[in-house]
Amino acid sequence: MDNYLLLKAKILVEGIKAEKESLEGIGNKFKAQNHGLFGWDFENHVDLLLPDDFILPDGTIVQFRLNSKSDFIVKKLNEKLILFNREKDICEVKWIKQPKFYSKKTSSGENMVKVGQIGGEDCLFFCYQNYCSYFSHNKQCTFCNLVATSKTYNSVMKKKDIVSIGETAASAWSEGMVNHILLTGGCFSNEKEVELVSTILDSIKKHTGMDRIPGTILPSPAKGDTIKKYYDSGIKAIGYSMEIFDESLYKAICPGKSENTTHREFLDSIEKAVSIFEEGNVYGVLVMGLETKETFLEGIKTLTGLGANVVPFVWSPNPGSKLSGHRAPSPEWYIDTIQEAAEIVVQSKVPFGDENHCYKCDGNSLLHDAIRIKAGAQ
Ligand code: SF4
Repeated sequence: MDNYLLLKAKILVEGIKAEKESLEGIGNKFKAQNHGLFGWDFENHVDLLLPDDFILPDGTIVQFRLNSKSDFIVKKLNEKLILFNREKDICEVKWIKQPKFYSKKTSSGENMVKVGQIGGEDCLFFCYQNYCSYFSHNKQCTFCNLVATSKTYNSVMKKKDIVSIGETAASAWSEGMVNHILLTGGCFSNEKEVELVSTILDSIKKHTGMDRIPGTILPSPAKGDTIKKYYDSGIKAIGYSMEIFDESLYKAICPGKSENTTHREFLDSIEKAVSIFEEGNVYGVLVMGLETKETFLEGIKTLTGLGANVVPFVWSPNPGSKLSGHRAPSPEWYIDTIQEAAEIVVQSKVPFGDENHCYKCDGNSLLHDAIRIKAGAQ
C-alpha cells in the first residue's frame, strides 16, 4: 500500500489498536499520550499507556486513536512494528521517540512533561489553561471533550508556572527536536489572556535566546487591538478556531462560542490579523467532517482568499463529547474533499511554509500532507 494519505484517513476515521508486545517502551523509549487538552481516542484507556502518534514509511504522521473494534492493528514481528488490517500486512510503522525533556524537571521541581508536550515529531505544545466556561452552561461545542478528558486522565498541570514553561521550552529546543510551538488556552477575557501570553512568550524568549518564536498562538478569538498585542508578544503566527464554516451549523455545533464570536467577526478578525502578521501567518482552524463538502470548501476558499492558511482536523467522535458514538464520514469523503482543498490552497498562492506549522506537527490533519504530496508530484 503506498497511498499513505488514504491510509492515514482510514486510520483516523476507523481508529486503531495495538498488540501488547508492540507497546513495549511506550512512555520511556517512545512518546506516550499525555492528554494535554482534548482526548482523540474512540475510547478511554486510563491504565494503558498508548503512543501519541506514529510514522508511516513516507514520513506521514498519524495520530493514534484507540478503537478496540478497529480492523487496524499494530503487531511486533522480528523487532519491527507492522501495521495490519485484520490479517493483511499493510506496512511497517514507527513509534516516535520520547524527547529527553520528558524525564527532566524544572527548577521548581515540576515534571517538564506535565508542562509541555511534543505534538507529532516537532511541535512543542503548551496549554496555559485547561478550562472552558461553556461547559458549565451546557453550551460547549458538541465535538469537544475537554472537561471529560481532564477529569478522566488528570495527567497534566491545569495551570502552568511561567518560569517552568520557559525552562521546558529551552530544554526541548536544546535537544534539536522542536521546530515550532503551539500555545493555547481556555476562554479568557481578551485583555487578561493577551497579558498572560505576553508573559509566557517573554519567558520562552529569555530561556531560549530567541527574539521571535516560530509557531502559533491559538487564543480565544483575538479581535480588534488585541491582535496587534499578540503580534507584539513575539510569536510569528496566530490561529482562529472557527471550527465550522457554515454559519448556521456553527451556531448549532458551537452554541457558546458563537454567542461570543460570530462568523462575521471571525472573518473580519482574520482579515485584520493577516494585515498584521502577514499572509500565510494566520491559520483558520476547522473541524472536518461535521459540515458538507460544499461549505467546508467554501471555507477554504474564503480563508485563503483573505490570505490565511487552514488547519482542518479530522473529527473524532470521542468519549465525553456530545457527539460520542457518532460516526465520521468515509475515508474516501475525506480524501476527495482534502484533495480539492489542497488545490484551492495551492491556487491561492498564500505562502504555505514550514516555519510555524508543518506536516510533522499534526497526526490529525490531512491538508498539509495533501499539499506536500501534491508538491512532490509536480
Ligand atoms: S470553545 Fe469549544 S472547542 Fe474550545 S474548549 Fe470550549 S467547548 Fe471546547
